[in-house]
Amino acid sequence: MLSEHRKGESDLIHRDGMWFLHATCDLPDVEVVNPVAFVGVDLGIANIATTSDGVLYVGKTLRAVRHRHRELRRRLQTKKTKSAKRLLKRRSRKESRFATDTNHVISNRIVTEAKRTGRGISLEDLSGIRERVRLRKPQRVTLHSWNFHQLGSFIAYKAARLGVPLVHVDPACTSRECSTCGHVDIKNRPDQATFSCTSCGFAEHADVNAARDIASRGAMGWAVSHAA
Ligand SMILES: [Zn+2]
Repeated sequence: MLSEHRKGESDLIHRDGMWFLHATCDLPDVEVVNPVAFVGVDLGIANIATTSDGVLYVGKTLRAVRHRHRELRRRLQTKKTKSAKRLLKRRSRKESRFATDTNHVISNRIVTEAKRTGRGISLEDLSGIRERVRLRKPQRVTLHSWNFHQLGSFIAYKAARLGVPLVHVDPACTSRECSTCGHVDIKNRPDQATFSCTSCGFAEHADVNAARDIASRGAMGWAVSHAA
């Protein structure tokens, strides 16, 4: 990719004992194919991403890394020495690299699977994400919203690179709408992880049900905007 598409100069950077090459590539547009169906992707806090195929990306390791770093930060912040500050900086860069890497892995899997099966990707419109995490502590809101947007943008550019269609849908009510019969009821959600329809009896992991809602909204949105 570098030899064929590199634009301008690249920077070789040495940081935290590692080498990074920053290069800009200008890739030609790939023609978007008409999808046979849509994969829905639900983004969340407990599960980073859940697909309508029933795949859950839990992000346990990411949470563990964050927890360890928080502990270290707490200990180091009481010391106000220069070396403690330096170590803190290095640690938070490491943490954000780990989060970025996790998002690359997740987005690659989602986009590759959509491409392999000839489907498009339906993603929730991320403008409402701040609302959804409003009950959390402010620093967590920033962290999560940053993480959601990064994952969303990774999915978008990787999909564009492979010609996989991407649509954004309104995620309203996906937590309580049955993906089988369309019945909307707060009682469809007996607890955080479970979805159980009070009308048709359909039961599924709550995030998978939401992802299925997102998938069908994506298919609908695509059909409307591509009607001949
Ligand atoms: Zn139902």
